[in-house]
Amino acid sequence: MQAQPILEIAGLTKTFGDFTALHAIDLKAREGEFLTIVGPSGSGKTTLIRLLAGLESPTDGAIYLRGQRIEKLPANKRPTCMVFQSLALFPHRSVGENIGFPLKIRGVSLTDRRERALELLDLLQLPRSYVDKRIQDCSGGERQRVALARALAFDPEILFFDEPLSALDYRLRKTLEKELKDLHARTGKTFVYITHSLEEAMVMSDRIAIMRAGRFEQIGTPDDIYARPISRFVAEFMGEVNLFDLALTPEGMQTGPLMMAPGITSRINLRTGSRITMMIRPESITLLDPDEDAEITVTGRFIDEYVLGSRVQRRFNLGDGHFVTVETLREARSALSVGAPMRLGWSLAQAHLIEER
Ligand code: ATP
Repeated sequence: MQAQPILEIAGLTKTFGDFTALHAIDLKAREGEFLTIVGPSGSGKTTLIRLLAGLESPTDGAIYLRGQRIEKLPANKRPTCMVFQSLALFPHRSVGENIGFPLKIRGVSLTDRRERALELLDLLQLPRSYVDKRIQDCSGGERQRVALARALAFDPEILFFDEPLSALDYRLRKTLEKELKDLHARTGKTFVYITHSLEEAMVMSDRIAIMRAGRFEQIGTPDDIYARPISRFVAEFMGEVNLFDLALTPEGMQTGPLMMAPGITSRINLRTGSRITMMIRPESITLLDPDEDAEITVTGRFIDEYVLGSRVQRRFNLGDGHFVTVETLREARSALSVGAPMRLGWSLAQAHLIEER
């Protein structure tokens, strides 16, 4: 039997005037899960997390915490805590005062607050001496850790995160992503995190919920989302992928620039009048030698390449407005001249087929 979810939303709806920001959505979070909600700007992520944290009330629907309805409880009566992008720390106060603030408003004594702040500094791997350091003298990464310590101060059951890393530079963000994942493992708390970066979500999450225009488009593990996106929207949201339209007409299968080896089209289950998108990742495409063949091939002219650390991304123009990106390891790359024609190939098993709904 499945354990009761720690958090469940059912038919959650939020309207602003005649605009519906959330359309009767459902979601369950498991105890101890790191669940990330990802979506483009305006898809409803902030609205959802504000409802979950109690900073806003829903227009309709329910929020359950361990089976109890909580959507009418004010934020400070919920056993949850929110970490904001702005961090919302008091710059002139000390680290210890900031961490202890949620305890102060709950009437905890100064001695106990300081003791808890020291414990949390240990947990966040900040020196204990920081307890008296002023926030304005802390670096961006240190402030981030203080904000996390403060969120953990009263031992909430769930932590909500509203894009806490989006204002930081790339290196610091990468470091803190790992730290957050590690903190999640050490505390065993349930984390619900929102971001518009699927890359960030991929690193940290147990499950990812992709939002689109106030609804969930797909909910799954990072592997599910990466390898088996259910729509073109999810596939494109993930960054560099190659997508091709396939359609079955009375004249046969229309494959655009794709050349299929004999027998391949019959292995693609397509009904007349329906459409399928074939997704192939840049790293799954091979540059074919003249005597080499593949189940699916295209011919294109080399346009340019970008070096991404140890990998190289190369673009090819297939004509008729079709382009393909191929990714190879830097050391494995052979020299190509711009405009040179090239055959590229992959197998049907390497491709993922998305049935358009
Ligand atoms: P971003 O990544 O840009 O923060 P988001 O996915 O968090 O976007 P929301 O802030 O939840 O999106 O907004 C969803 C939609 O609801 C947007 O179209 C927004 O304009 C609208 N919206 C949000 N809050 C209000 C409000 N208080 N009044 C009117 N419309 C609002």
